[in-house]
Amino acid sequence: MENSGLGGEKHQEKDVGVAQEVQQDRKSGSCSRSGGVRLTLDSPVRYVPGIGPKLSEALARYLNVRTVRDLLYLLPARYVDRSQWWTVAQVRQLARKNTGEAVQFLGRVVQRRLIPLGKRRKQTILEVVVEDEAGGRLSLFWLHATMWYYKKLVVGSWWVIHGKPTYFLSRPAILHPDLTDPQERREGLQTVYTLPRSLVRRGLSLRRLKQIYQTIFNQLLPPDRIPDPLPAWIRQERKLLPLGVALKNLHFPSSSEAFSEAMRRLKYDELFSLQIVLVQEKLLRQRTQKGIAIPHSGNLIHQFYRERLSFALTEDQKRAVHEIYQDFRRGVPMRRLLQGDVGSGKTVVALLSALLMVDHGYQVCLMAPTEVLAYQHWQKWRAWLHGLRTSDGSAIQVHLLTGSVRGTRRRQLLQMLKDGNIHILIGTHALIEDPVQFARLGYVIIDEQHRFGVLQRARLVFKNEALTPHVLVMSATPIPRTLALTIYGDLDVSVLKTLPPGRKPVKTFHLYESHREEAYRFIRQELNRGRQAYIVFPLIEESETMDYANLEEGIRRIEAFFGKDYPFVVLHGRMKPEEKQEAMDAFTSGRAPLMVATNVIEVGVDVPRATTIVIESAERFGLAQLHQLRGRVCRSSDQPYCFLVTARRLSADALKRIQAMLTTTDGFQLAELDLQLRGPGELLGVQQSGMINLRFASLVHDQQLLQDARKDAIRLLQEDYQLRRYPALRKTIRDVWGDRLPLGKVG
Ligand code: ADP
Ligand code: MG
Repeated sequence: MENSGLGGEKHQEKDVGVAQEVQQDRKSGSCSRSGGVRLTLDSPVRYVPGIGPKLSEALARYLNVRTVRDLLYLLPARYVDRSQWWTVAQVRQLARKNTGEAVQFLGRVVQRRLIPLGKRRKQTILEVVVEDEAGGRLSLFWLHATMWYYKKLVVGSWWVIHGKPTYFLSRPAILHPDLTDPQERREGLQTVYTLPRSLVRRGLSLRRLKQIYQTIFNQLLPPDRIPDPLPAWIRQERKLLPLGVALKNLHFPSSSEAFSEAMRRLKYDELFSLQIVLVQEKLLRQRTQKGIAIPHSGNLIHQFYRERLSFALTEDQKRAVHEIYQDFRRGVPMRRLLQGDVGSGKTVVALLSALLMVDHGYQVCLMAPTEVLAYQHWQKWRAWLHGLRTSDGSAIQVHLLTGSVRGTRRRQLLQMLKDGNIHILIGTHALIEDPVQFARLGYVIIDEQHRFGVLQRARLVFKNEALTPHVLVMSATPIPRTLALTIYGDLDVSVLKTLPPGRKPVKTFHLYESHREEAYRFIRQELNRGRQAYIVFPLIEESETMDYANLEEGIRRIEAFFGKDYPFVVLHGRMKPEEKQEAMDAFTSGRAPLMVATNVIEVGVDVPRATTIVIESAERFGLAQLHQLRGRVCRSSDQPYCFLVTARRLSADALKRIQAMLTTTDGFQLAELDLQLRGPGELLGVQQSGMINLRFASLVHDQQLLQDARKDAIRLLQEDYQLRRYPALRKTIRDVWGDRLPLGKVG
C-alpha cells in the first residue's frame, strides 16, 4: 500500500459533509441498471454501473482505487450516529454540559422570528423554536441563509433535527442544525468519507459513492457472494464476521457495534496476513537454508568463563547464551533478537556466544552503530580475550575495521580476513554497506540495533554466503512486545529482564537552565569522590550549526565552572576518528574524569565509574534517547544520578517526556509511552520501509488482536506452511502484501 488513497493529497482533501449530501440528493439519479454484470472483488471499478471511464480514471488517480476490492476497502473517515434518539429535555441538559456530542431528535416548529443585527443593517439571525412530543422546547439558530430557512420551516412542520447542543444568546440551542424530512429519515449510522476535492469536482459526491456501494451490495455482489479467504475455524474461534458482511457493515453500519465489529474483522485480516508473511519467512528459512552446526560447546567458552570473567552471569544471561547455543547445535540459521534494557549486560552474552563459533574455526563479525562504540568493543574484547587460544592452538585475533582504517593497513586486514587469520572482526554497520570477504563467516552480531534498515540489509548480504551465518541482533531500545512481533516477526527473541545484581535505580532530577549550576556543584562532589560524569548537549541534524554554537557556549561555561582542577574531554561527531578515540581513552582511563559530549554517546558507551549525567536541553531529546543517555550511568553498583536541564517553557509533549523520565526507569514502560507519543515509525526508524503502513489496525491500540493473529498464523502454518490447502488466502496475502514488504518474496 504505497499510498493508502485516503491519506494522499492532504492539502486538497475536502470533507463532504452531511449537509451537502442532502443537497446533492436529487441530482445524481438512480444507478439501478445492473445490466446483468457479474462482479467479483477483482473486477475493475469501471464495470460498476454508474462509474464511467472518467470517474474510474479519477478514482485510480486520486484514491488508488482500481478494483471493486479497492473500492470496498475504502475506510470511512467517520460516521454520524442516526440510530439514537433524544428528547428535548435531554438535549437541553447536554447543552449545559457542552460535551460537543451530536444529537438527533424529532421536533415540530412552533415559532420562528428574524432578529435584526444592529439597527440599520439588513442582516438578520433566524431563531426557530421547536417542540418535541413531550412538550420540551428548544431554539435553533441560523446566522446565514436565514430567509431560505425561514421559508422552509413552516410553523407546524415536523423535522428530524441533528446537531451539537450548545448555548446561544444565553439559551440552550443548536446552531445550524442538519434538517431531514421525517418521511425520508434514515436509521442507523451514516458514514462520511473524506474525498479529495479533485474527485468531488469530477462528480463523485458522497451521495453518489453511497449509491455505488448500494448497487454493489444489493445487486452486483451481495455480501454472501463475497468469498472469504480466512479459514472458517479461525473465523469461528475469533468470532469474526464473514468478510462480505464486514465490508457491508463498514459502509452501511446499523449500529456503532456493527461498525466496530466490521473494523475488528478488517484489522484482524491485516494483522493476520502480515504475521503469515513473517512467520512463513521464518519457517522457510528453517526448512530450506543450511546453517552452520557445531557439535559441542568446546573448551574456549569454559576457559573464558573460569579465568577471565570477573562476575557471575545473571540467570537471564545464562539462559540467553544457552538459547543461542541450542540454535548453533541445530544448525538452522539463527535469527535472534537479544533484547535487554541499557546496562543489562548484552555484550558479554554476545562475547560468550562468539567464542562458541570461534572455537570451531568460524569467524565472527560484530557490528556497532558508531565508530566510538566499535572502538570501545574492540578495546574491551581484545583485553578480555588476550592470550586465549582456540582448540587448534592459534591465539585469538580480534581486529577493528572502520572507515578510518585506510591504505596498507586496510589491505592487510582484508587479506587476513580472507585467509581466515582473523577470528573476530569488529566494525561499524558500514560493514554491510560495503561487504568484506570472510574465509569462514559463521556468526554476525549487530549491536544496538534499532534501525530497521540495518537488519533488512544484513538479511540480504548474508544470504549470499555459502553457509548462511547465524545472526544475533542486540537491541537496547526496549521494543514493546507487539511491535517486536510485527517488525521482527520472523526472529526468535531472548530477553534480559533483570539487571546485574546490585544496580541501584538512577535518581533523576529536573532543573531549569537558570539552576544548572546546582548540577555542576553536584558533579564536583562526585568527582571528588573518584567518580566520573557526562554533560550532554543535543545535536539535532537540522539545526547543526546552532547546536555547535550551543555546545561551544556550554563548553565555555563548564570551563569557567570547573577550572583546571577537573580536566574534561569533548566528544562530538565532527571530530576526527583519532581525536574521538583519544577522548574515549582519556575518559575510560579516568585521566579526564568529565566528558562533554553530544548524542554520540547515546548508544553503548560503557564506563562503569561514570555515575552522573547532565542532559542539557533535555526537552529536545526523544524519550528513547533520554533513556539511552541515562543508561550510560547505570553500569555499576554505585548510586547513579541524572539531571535533566530544560528551558522554563515546555511543550505539552516535552513535559510528558520529562515527567515520564522522573517517574520511571523501566525502559519498557518508557518505550510504550514513546510509542503513544510518537507512533511506531519514528520509534524504530521504519518510516521509509513502508512496512508499518497499516490501513485499519493500529499497533498502539490493537495489541491483543495482533497477538491473536500471530498465534493463529503460527498454528495455520505449522500444519500447512505453504498454504496449499488455502489457495484463496495465499492469493489474497500475495495481493495485499506482495509489494508492501521489504522482505521480498511471499508464499
Ligand atoms: P548493555 O546491555 O547496555 O550493552 P553492557 O553489556 O555494556 O550492557 O553491560 C553493562 C556493564 O555491566 C558492563 O560494564 C558489563 O561488564 C557489566 N556486566 C554485565 N553483566 C554483568 C553481571 N552479570 N554482573 C555484573 N556486571 C555485569
Ligand atoms: Mg551495549
